[in-house]
Amino acid sequence: MSRAPIRTCVACKRKAEKAGLLRVSRDAEGRVSVGMGGRGAYVCANDACVRAAVRKKLAARPLRIASSSVDWKRLEADLLAELHSDTNGQG
Ligand SMILES: [Zn+2]
Repeated sequence: MSRAPIRTCVACKRKAEKAGLLRVSRDAEGRVSVGMGGRGAYVCANDACVRAAVRKKLAARPLRIASSSVDWKRLEADLLAELHSDTNGQG
């Protein structure tokens, strides 16, 4: 009945429910990390989109940040960790 918030993946441009996407945010100091708060960009919760968002630096534009100032390696590691963490506690 109630409509879920829809966001667009920065990698494949597919629209999906916010709950099914990973959120990348940047804080006031320009540090980019996975999570809530600050300006956000969304990426599908799958390896292909996470890797594309990082390798092609697609997350920079929606975050309005210079891609050279992002620690992409760390962001990729954080996103993949988030992706593979099972919130149901199984594994
Ligand atoms: Zn995607």
